[in-house]
Amino acid sequence: MSESSLPSVQSFAIGNIQLAKVLDSLEPTSPRFLYVDKRKDDFDPHLEWLQPHFVDPEKRMLLSIHTFLIQTKHHTILIDTCIGNEKQNLAFAQWNGRQGFYLRDLAAASCAPESVDYVFCTHMHLDHTGWSTRLQDGRWTPTFPNAKYLFNKREWEHWQNEPNPEDQAVVQQNIVPIIEAGQVEWVDNAWGIDDEVTLIPTPGHTPGHCRVLLRSNGQEAVITGDMMVHPVQIAEPQWQQQADVDKALAIETRTQFIDQHCDSDTLILGTHFNTATGVHIVSKGEQKRIKQ
Ligand SMILES: [Zn+2]
Repeated sequence: MSESSLPSVQSFAIGNIQLAKVLDSLEPTSPRFLYVDKRKDDFDPHLEWLQPHFVDPEKRMLLSIHTFLIQTKHHTILIDTCIGNEKQNLAFAQWNGRQGFYLRDLAAASCAPESVDYVFCTHMHLDHTGWSTRLQDGRWTPTFPNAKYLFNKREWEHWQNEPNPEDQAVVQQNIVPIIEAGQVEWVDNAWGIDDEVTLIPTPGHTPGHCRVLLRSNGQEAVITGDMMVHPVQIAEPQWQQQADVDKALAIETRTQFIDQHCDSDTLILGTHFNTATGVHIVSKGEQKRIKQ
């Protein structure tokens, strides 16, 4: 299946909130890319519930990169803006100069860029901030002209002075143009976008990383961000992620989150989880896994 023909929009309802997953990319990925010391065979004890949706027949992880489009009574909100098009000098060279179909698919989910009120990126990595900007007349400009972009202060403090050129490519292409356009609203700690959507600090993957809590009409869901990248981490929260800035804190945050939400009604919306994307965590004997 070519990238352009993938089913790219998936819808959910949490109480009165309408939510759509809008895909930017879905790629099979080697465990080596994500975890410090894990190989394909380390997935064997969990293949029974990870295949076919989260691990392919060659035991590669299926990692989705998508936006969550949230429609509350009051606001249109985007959580995470994926890879973007035409970026250069990225840490993953295969994404340089990319031409994806994200804006077309956002339109298919009935979202015009002008209609977005808030944009929030769970953290400032390249696969979460890309579509915050687009190239227009040779300049990086905000893709969502009427939106307030919510920037976590701690996250920006960390990334603004990172000397690595690949980090600076993200800062200069995806972040600085928003600041220069005067569209940033600076946030810190737990922060409510409105009465149904709250940002909650979950540090470890990055210093200012936040998950997003959705509560409406007695129902609850959480957007994970990269606190947990692949569903295998529900069973193996202690696996170290290459990209975690503080690996010990990331493990602590992830373990706590999984324990807190195990056998609950909370819908877990994985920022990189392939379809079904929204899952419930359950215990089975000593193990934790996804409810099927
Ligand atoms: Zn990510």
